[in-house]
Amino acid sequence: MKSLDTFALNKLKPLIEKGLKREILVTERLANGNVIRSGQELISFCCNDYLSLSHHPKLIQAAKDATDRFGTGAGASRLITGNHPLLLELEQRLAQIKGTQDACVFSSGYMANIGIIPTFIGPKDIIFLDELSHACIYAGSSLSEAHCAIFRHNDMAHLQELIDQKRNDYQNALIVTDGVFSMDGDLAPLDILSQLANENECWLMTDDAHGLGVMGDGKGSRHMFSPLPDIPLQMGTLSKAIGSLGGYLCASKPVIDLIKTRSRSLIYTTALPPGNVAAALAALDIIETEPDYCSLPLKNARHFTQLLDLPEPDSPIVPIIIGDTARTMKFAAALEQEGFLVSGIRPPTVPQDTARLRFTFSALHKPQDIKALATTLKKIGVLS
Ligand SMILES: *Cc1c(COP(=O)(O)O)cnc(C)c1O
Repeated sequence: MKSLDTFALNKLKPLIEKGLKREILVTERLANGNVIRSGQELISFCCNDYLSLSHHPKLIQAAKDATDRFGTGAGASRLITGNHPLLLELEQRLAQIKGTQDACVFSSGYMANIGIIPTFIGPKDIIFLDELSHACIYAGSSLSEAHCAIFRHNDMAHLQELIDQKRNDYQNALIVTDGVFSMDGDLAPLDILSQLANENECWLMTDDAHGLGVMGDGKGSRHMFSPLPDIPLQMGTLSKAIGSLGGYLCASKPVIDLIKTRSRSLIYTTALPPGNVAAALAALDIIETEPDYCSLPLKNARHFTQLLDLPEPDSPIVPIIIGDTARTMKFAAALEQEGFLVSGIRPPTVPQDTARLRFTFSALHKPQDIKALATTLKKIGVLS
């Protein structure tokens, strides 16, 4: 056998033993929010398409029109072929929604994070990172070669302690956090974080992948706080509630100018296809004009937790922590048998011994779907 194959098999062996080998199953997503897997139609409680905009007629039409007119691909990096007028419009719209001078769109949220952080932070600097920050924030932080100080999840006293211990040994400092935590659904205390950042000469960056479209009247998690916290680097994605693809940074003009001049994951990669950009613009139209629709995913999540006497959620993401990986995957399989698609989330996506069922609620879920899910969770023994 080839040494490369031997290497791969040896790496996989312990993962298979621990139930950690991943399988990506063929699954079709339908316009009604359901999915088809192995010939069975399931109600999906695991999609980030919170508003089902990826199937909205207006987005589909906008993507078709842009594709007909401008083609399926961007041709090259924007620094080579130039800025598409739709991208300019999208960046202006994002800046307007987030209340910043300017914005930059990347090809995905992951690309945004690995491009933004190393643009501002280097080996002489320090990053203070919430321990539950998304994997691509960790990736961007390690690319920056800065010192990383990880604070306990949402623990502001611990963050203050780390700042007191370390801040002065470094030049520039960045505090990074998710706005809505992707596997836990709770909010970062953005008011306190922005205060700590300002008091200690740190820059604050939030990743609001799960905020735009569903939190704060659709404007994102910053709008859950009053007065609005000062966040100079507001990153997010167009791939979740926006129903398209792409990442973005909203910030001041000098910050965006530096990104467009230096950020490697913007410069050395092909721009988004015009169809995706047009779809994102159509989504922002809907989000800006239909705040009631944007509030439905959170309302549905709260309906679910009420039925089961679980704590009230901050966002449309509701985890039920099981702990053991095998038990979690067994419950996910049982739910599938009963007609529900719910993801079992295992390490390393979440910390050891915190494997969980993660439910995401969408605007399309009907009260009877949520009730049926709650009943099934009791029936299969997830909750008593
Ligand atoms: C999904 C997600 C990303 C990545 O965004 P993509 O556009 O899917 O690459 C980044 N950060 C957080 C918190 C996410 O949940």
